[in-house]
Amino acid sequence: MIEVAQLTKRYGDVRAVDSVSFTVEPGVVTGFLGPNGAGKSTTIRIMLGLERPSGGSVLIDGRPYRTLREPLRHVGALLDPSWVNRKQSGRAHLRWLAASNGIPDSRVDEVLDLVGLTSAASRRTGGYSLGMLQRLGVANALLGDPRYLLLDEPSNGLDPEGIAWIRDLLTVLARDGKGVLVSSHLLSEVSRWRTTSW
Ligand code: ADP
Ligand code: ADP
Repeated sequence: MIEVAQLTKRYGDVRAVDSVSFTVEPGVVTGFLGPNGAGKSTTIRIMLGLERPSGGSVLIDGRPYRTLREPLRHVGALLDPSWVNRKQSGRAHLRWLAASNGIPDSRVDEVLDLVGLTSAASRRTGGYSLGMLQRLGVANALLGDPRYLLLDEPSNGLDPEGIAWIRDLLTVLARDGKGVLVSSHLLSEVSRWRTTSW
């Protein structure tokens, strides 16, 4: 289980996250609902150890993220797609991530297939649509076959078919026992899941 307890983050006078507590449990999709600016991305970035909280804690099966060995095998995340090198192909990006995390190269083609990017995999990501970048981000998150998935606004840029695809994928992943957190500013996208909001 991931336990987020009384998490707070301040940027100067801005309270980006204000004493937020929730859990992410194996086999459950938890919807993380809040308007733009509510602090969802900041919360997820703190959960991944990418930012330090001003207060509170995050424990992943009892341990802070930064103490996990082979972290991508524990937690996979979809963040804002700006992290992608636009000159690299989707496959090259995933191969680099696999190589730097001790994940076998064969896993790259598996996740490309899972997200429906096989035919676009050798093209530069600079030519990808937002929806394709989201699919690449989901592939990124799934690469280590992690127990937990943290997906920040995964439906952004997806067409209705893509939105149905991500919904079905999350259902299957939770059925396989993964714990999933999925953020959205739209109630319609998280109402089918157990929902945390503030
Ligand atoms: P959400 O993901 O729910 O849209 P964010 O976590 O992106 O919300 O942002 C929450 C609040 O924190 C916003 O008011 C945003 O402007 C502010 N914020 C986020 N990151 C920073 C930062 N690095 N510096 C200053 N303010 C920030
Ligand atoms: P490093 O310290 O190895 O350079 P960072 O912590 O700076 O790694 O993360 C680099 C990028 O990797 C982040 O911006 C984020 O997009 C991605 N990332 C980090 N943790 C995860 C994760 N658990 N799952 C998927 N992507 C991640």
